Amino acid sequence: MSPEDCLFCKIASGTIPSEKVYEDDHTFAFLDINPINKGHTLVIPKHHAENIMTIRKDDLAAVMETVRMLAPVIQRAVSADGINIGINNGSAAGQVIFHAHVHVMPRFDGDGHEHWQGKKLTAEEIASTAIAIRKEL
Ligand code: 5GP
Ligand code: ZN
Repeated sequence: MSPEDCLFCKIASGTIPSEKVYEDDHTFAFLDINPINKGHTLVIPKHHAENIMTIRKDDLAAVMETVRMLAPVIQRAVSADGINIGINNGSAAGQVIFHAHVHVMPRFDGDGHEHWQGKKLTAEEIASTAIAIRKEL
């Protein structure tokens, strides 16, 4: 997708408005339009990349530095009890906007959001998966 067609490129350039909370030379952070809780923030690289597997190394470093700086700021601002930091890659993983972004999601005790349930795998299945991953390296 070209930057001209990308929603988050347009948000980063200001062509489409957003509730910006922070910006520097390489990153842009703004409030999610459909937050899981108040303060839910998206941190994006200004340079377009589809996801975290294709993002430039220096852009990823810049995005994560912004996440590191902003997470405690957001937590204080909304008096959250904790923060989830998440990245969805690919539609099977819930990615809807194909411009790399990190979700910074404030959490509150008893806010009702549940974590994923674990899948029961045998020790053999786990071991053979580790072999498959190491083979791909
Ligand atoms: P994904 O599922 O791709 O990881 O997350 C995309 C996020 O972008 C969603 O949480 C969604 O609410 C948010 N979003 C989608 N469109 C807009 C928009 O136009 N403005 C803002 N601020 N957030 C958006
Ligand atoms: Zn983009």
